[in-house]
Amino acid sequence: PGEQLPHDPKLPTVVVLGNGWGSTAFLKDLDNQGYNVVVISPLTVGTLASRSILEPTRFLTRHLKRKTEVYEGEVYEVDPVKKTVRFVDNSEIKGEVAGTEIPYDYLVYAVGAENQTFGIKGVKENACFLKEVWDAEKIRTRIMDCIETANFAGQTQAEIDRLLSFVVVGGGPTGVEYAGELHDFLKEDLANWYPDLADRINITLIEALPNVLPMFSKQLIDYTMSTFKENKIDIKTKTMVKEVQEKKILAMNENKEVVEYPYGLLVWATGNTARPVTRDLMSRIGDAQNSRRGLLVDEHMRLLGADGIFALGDCTATNYAPTAQVASQQGIYLARVFSKLHKKEQLLTELEQAKAAGAEPAKLDSLANAVIRASNIPPFHYSHQGSLAYIGSEKAIADLPVFQGNLAAAGFATYYFWRSAYISQLFSLRNRVLVGADWLKTKVLGRAMPRTL
Ligand code: NAD
Repeated sequence: PGEQLPHDPKLPTVVVLGNGWGSTAFLKDLDNQGYNVVVISPLTVGTLASRSILEPTRFLTRHLKRKTEVYEGEVYEVDPVKKTVRFVDNSEIKGEVAGTEIPYDYLVYAVGAENQTFGIKGVKENACFLKEVWDAEKIRTRIMDCIETANFAGQTQAEIDRLLSFVVVGGGPTGVEYAGELHDFLKEDLANWYPDLADRINITLIEALPNVLPMFSKQLIDYTMSTFKENKIDIKTKTMVKEVQEKKILAMNENKEVVEYPYGLLVWATGNTARPVTRDLMSRIGDAQNSRRGLLVDEHMRLLGADGIFALGDCTATNYAPTAQVASQQGIYLARVFSKLHKKEQLLTELEQAKAAGAEPAKLDSLANAVIRASNIPPFHYSHQGSLAYIGSEKAIADLPVFQGNLAAAGFATYYFWRSAYISQLFSLRNRVLVGADWLKTKVLGRAMPRTL
């Protein structure tokens, strides 16, 4: 990238919070000539394992016209009246300054959500989650630990069975995709490393409702169920987890009996809930923010009851599903809004200058009309490209709105489509090459073994 323009104190400051799909798409499309941009994100550099999934914020902001400030930190307070955010350095190494406050003119609030646990006893303490990049690494380490402990000299038979029981709770797309990935990793890749234990590995998916994946058609649900059956993934529907202990889960089945599921690894995937910083922001705004699901915004993504805040992605409560597809379209839209706002500011200044210089009425009229045109920002419009989910063994399901109707597809071909759609969603060429290389490595060498890397 070329020379970037320096910080300009006369320009408004846009503070961007988050490094998920929404803020990434926003930063990617933003023209920041008219703004000073500050990004605060919990991850700026990207670890080796995560670098092909998330685009490091530092890398992402290098193309911007004006120099951007990027801070690795966690925002814990937004004051919508004073227009400030407070954030802390939550990394292991801390300097003399480990927390501070900065002002904003505009805030792009895209902090995502956290895992829903419904306050069920023992979940936070004992389960693994699937939200942050580092969660995946934690789960892999735990899987390897379970297997090695099962393999320990003289281990008891009952303990081997418990350690090799992998349980996923929640039959939405997150839980189903993870159960599929877990099958591939445990039964296809690890089987070669631990042939004696491979047959004893047990994967269970627990879902409270009568079906997994309620958002997909019956045909695709049936296909998923039969693929899971072939893959020996046990699906327990109409089963509601009530309590989690260190080594077992207590659940209620459809006959209202309490059933115990011993586990070595428990992955919890029962959906999203608002983060504490979001709940705090709602309570500061008061009446205008009364949804339990998340932040309420208007059709231009302006936060209700606040001035200068735009919210997008999983932290909002809208009619759209909390998906990557929605958040990235919102990010692209918001980048366009900022361009228009800048254009409007420029035209207003021009109009003022023309008035001061005593310009002709016709010239003033045309400038005033241009200001009106620039102020006319169309509302956000979501274009649904379809739903796709991976279900294991190189199979995927797809619900695509094609030719007005729906195309429901499942199987190997869908899997390759899923791969290509997934890769093309991962914005940059650099990322596509990295993910492509990771995938090829998996095909050729098997999935990476954490302890041998
Ligand atoms: P979800 O809310 O879709 O599913 C959670 C499931 O957990 C529900 O079916 C619920 O009945 C079940 N559950 C809740 N409490 C339970 C309990 N105590 N015991 C047993 N089961 C319980 O959550 P998700 O799967 O994380 O998905 C969240 C959003 O992200 C969705 O909008 C989804 O479409 C999207 N998403 C999409 C994809 C994809 O398109 N491939 C992948 C992941 C997530």
